[in-house]
Order: sequence, then structure tokens, then C-alpha cells
Amino acid sequence: MRITCPLCGPRDRREFYYYGSEDYLTQPALGDFDAIDAHLHLRDNLAGEVRDLWYHEMGCAAWLLVTRNTVTHKISDVVQVAGGGVGILAKMKPEEGAL
Ligand SMILES: [Zn+2]
Repeated sequence: MRITCPLCGPRDRREFYYYGSEDYLTQPALGDFDAIDAHLHLRDNLAGEVRDLWYHEMGCAAWLLVTRNTVTHKISDVVQVAGGGVGILAKMKPEEGAL
């Protein structure tokens, strides 16, 4: 699978770290433990188009929002995540060797 990074162009998916659903761009209110539990542990497992976060670990270090179809694996859109989400996510980058 190839992902077209908006900054680097088409690259092999092994250059990227898959972070998870775009749901991680938002957070429930502090103290709302049921919402936090659901945010962390409950995920839809859709057959069809989803939007996920990917980190261009072996490239430009950009956080990307990738729209792909889980049935066909076709990627229909890739955009760079901008604004506050980048700062939050940069702090959440996995430790070296965590995989
Ligand atoms: Zn890149």
C-alpha cells in the first residue's frame, strides 16, 4: 500500500506509523469517566470508508488524516492535520522501539 503524503509525495506505507481512528483528534471532558472509557476502549469496526491518523515517521514527521476504504483498501484522500491537533499528537508519539 502506498500513501501520498501531501509534503513528500507517494511513499510506501512502511514509512508511516498507524495511530488509529480520527477520534483521537478529540477528547472527552476531564472528569467524564464514562466518556473517557468509551473514547479509549470502544471503537466501531466499519466495513467501508474510515478516516485514520498516520504519522510520517520515516519522512517529514507530519500527522496525516487518511481516508481509506477498509474493504477495497483504496485511499481516497490524505490531508495534513493542522492546528492544535498537531501539538497534541506530537506529544503522543510512541516511544522508540514501542512496536
Ligand atoms: Zn511526508
